[in-house]
Amino acid sequence: MTTSNKIALVTGGSRGLGKNMAIAIAKKGLDVILTYNSKQDEAAEVVKEIEALGQKAVALQLNVADSKSFDSFYGQVKQALKDTFGTEHFQYLVNNAGVGLHVSFAETTEEQFDNLVNIHLKGVFFLTQKALPLLQDGGGIINISSGLARFSFPNASAYGTMKGGVETLTRYMAKELGSRGVRANAVAPGAIETDFNGGAVRDNAELNKAVASQTALGRVGLPDDIGGVVAFLCTDEARWVNGQRIEVSGGMML
Ligand code: NDP
Repeated sequence: MTTSNKIALVTGGSRGLGKNMAIAIAKKGLDVILTYNSKQDEAAEVVKEIEALGQKAVALQLNVADSKSFDSFYGQVKQALKDTFGTEHFQYLVNNAGVGLHVSFAETTEEQFDNLVNIHLKGVFFLTQKALPLLQDGGGIINISSGLARFSFPNASAYGTMKGGVETLTRYMAKELGSRGVRANAVAPGAIETDFNGGAVRDNAELNKAVASQTALGRVGLPDDIGGVVAFLCTDEARWVNGQRIEVSGGMML
């Protein structure tokens, strides 16, 4: 009898940290369903990279701000599980997709705030809730938070607030889903060089230097610093890690 590989669903897997997570997870021998919002071609490239590693992968479109679309999204996931993976369940959900917002508390508009709530909080809440019938007992949820939920920088009040909410939600998920053997953890990256916030950490030399000087290991983070930690949480070796916030920041703002 052949048993199918474990499968992780990674949101926002077309670029940046999600791409790195998807590939690191595939390197651990899991298959991957990744989602993209706008960058279909980039997502297709990630699928190819995963296939080159000998794993199966599928890319699906998903806007995490549009909770009304989640039922039809999971209809597509169900179909992909059947057609591509020959199974009815997936084992890990990685809630990674997201955007930044660099605006002062005084100037943040209600519209900007609502957009972040929809993407980072409501999206994570209901995408996970609606995943429950497809998520295998004994599986896991990894929510991507941020260093900004622990320490504060100017112009990140709305964003940091969402990530603080995600960390609280993670503990509730762990508490309520433990009876199914489902673990939930938050991974909180420090400042990492990606397209995030217009690529500021990567492209703004002054900011890059400032972050490096506030980091014990003396540099900013790279996507490769993050993916492996998320991939570890998608293995049986992490079976006793539950309800935790794991900061992956090289020791930022200690
Ligand atoms: P990037 O901007 O590099 O990538 C963002 C990813 O999220 C893309 O795959 C994008 O899809 C997807 N995405 C954006 N908006 C939506 C949406 N509305 N619905 C669905 N997918 C969406 O960002 P990062 O990789 O840096 O960030 C990933 C996560 O890590 C975020 O949750 C972010 O808050 C968090 N984080 C990032 C840090 C950093 O310094 N980079 C630090 C701490 C946390 P597409 O390509 O199709 O547009």
